[in-house]
Amino acid sequence: MIHMELNKRQTEILEIVKADGPITGEQIAERLNLARATIRPDLAILTMAGYLDARPRVGYFYSGKKPTQSVMDGMIGMKVGDFQSIPVVVNENVTVYDAICQMFLDDVGTLFVVDKNSFLTGVLSRKDLLRTSLGNSELDKIPVHVIMTRMPNITYCKKQDSLIQVAKKMIDQQIDSLPVIYAKEEGLEVVGRITKTNITRAFLSLAEEHEL
Ligand code: ADP
Repeated sequence: MIHMELNKRQTEILEIVKADGPITGEQIAERLNLARATIRPDLAILTMAGYLDARPRVGYFYSGKKPTQSVMDGMIGMKVGDFQSIPVVVNENVTVYDAICQMFLDDVGTLFVVDKNSFLTGVLSRKDLLRTSLGNSELDKIPVHVIMTRMPNITYCKKQDSLIQVAKKMIDQQIDSLPVIYAKEEGLEVVGRITKTNITRAFLSLAEEHEL
């Protein structure tokens, strides 16, 4: 994680405020034997970076927060590969009935559908299965490839993609999960699953890392 490099004077200011804040800019300058104007840019940097907070008529105090910049770096650095779950896949010829059982057995909300070579061909959501179940008594006769959302309309991602990118796709497409794929010449291999739960977990881990 990248932290902003503080210069010697900024570090001194930070120490003074940590020890004796709230303290005015005037008083800080006095302690350093410098003019108020000289330290103004340093105070501005420390405040902008989130190290210090300033209140009118009170002065500067140590925010106790880690700098905003490092939270942003952390967020940008979160990759699919670090948060993905194990994918649950079914063959495109299994029946809707079996897919429903699979969904319960593996306790997931989305199944990924693959062909005989294990390449991605479709996605089955809870509501895809519910919709088919309504007024349909032959669930053990319908293969899932008839009802699934199919390629090329599948939104997927790769291990190295950023979680922010994935979150945006989920919201834009109104979907709960994406298959994580590894692209081969012959097709897309399903190597993972990323869901809203993974995103929530990532969000929480970022908060915990920064002691929020
Ligand atoms: P639900 O349908 O249970 O609310 P979703 O919101 O995930 O769950 O799915 C909405 C629709 O989008 C479904 O028809 C599903 O097949 C489809 N879908 C789900 N995930 C994807 C995806 N990654 N790419 C394309 N379509 C998807």
